[in-house]
Amino acid sequence: MIRIGHGYDVHKLGADRRLVLCGTDIPYEKGLVGHSDADVAVHALMDAILGALALGDIGKLFPDTDPAYKGADSMVLLMDVIQRMTGAGYRLGNLDITIIAEKPKLAPYIMEMRDNLAAVFGCELSQVSVKATTEEGLGLAGQGIGAHANVLLMKC
Ligand code: MG
Repeated sequence: MIRIGHGYDVHKLGADRRLVLCGTDIPYEKGLVGHSDADVAVHALMDAILGALALGDIGKLFPDTDPAYKGADSMVLLMDVIQRMTGAGYRLGNLDITIIAEKPKLAPYIMEMRDNLAAVFGCELSQVSVKATTEEGLGLAGQGIGAHANVLLMKC
């Protein structure tokens, strides 16, 4: 049996914040604003996994009103979601993330992002796709960064 899920998230860019995407720190004059480390790509990915399993969403699991998650490392939250996936008897088939950002250029960091994700899933690099696109100055228009994620999960 297979299950698919989709996740989508957007965070605003702001001053004096780290820019963390798929667990990789990216040097930039701004970072993403949020209760946790605001890793928008990992947030979309977690929602995709939870969606595939009909287990709700990260807002329910890790509420941003809970001080426990202030400044939280989203990769650690992802490990929790992966445990829930495994607990439900599923493993990753593949995942595909699209990050939407006008700036900065993300191409130099894509391989590291894939490595980070493959490491937490304990899967092959070929199961993990991370892509980046702009919206040609439309849409988020440099005010924020968004991400879509799709996952396919397979019954163990
Ligand atoms: Mg978020």
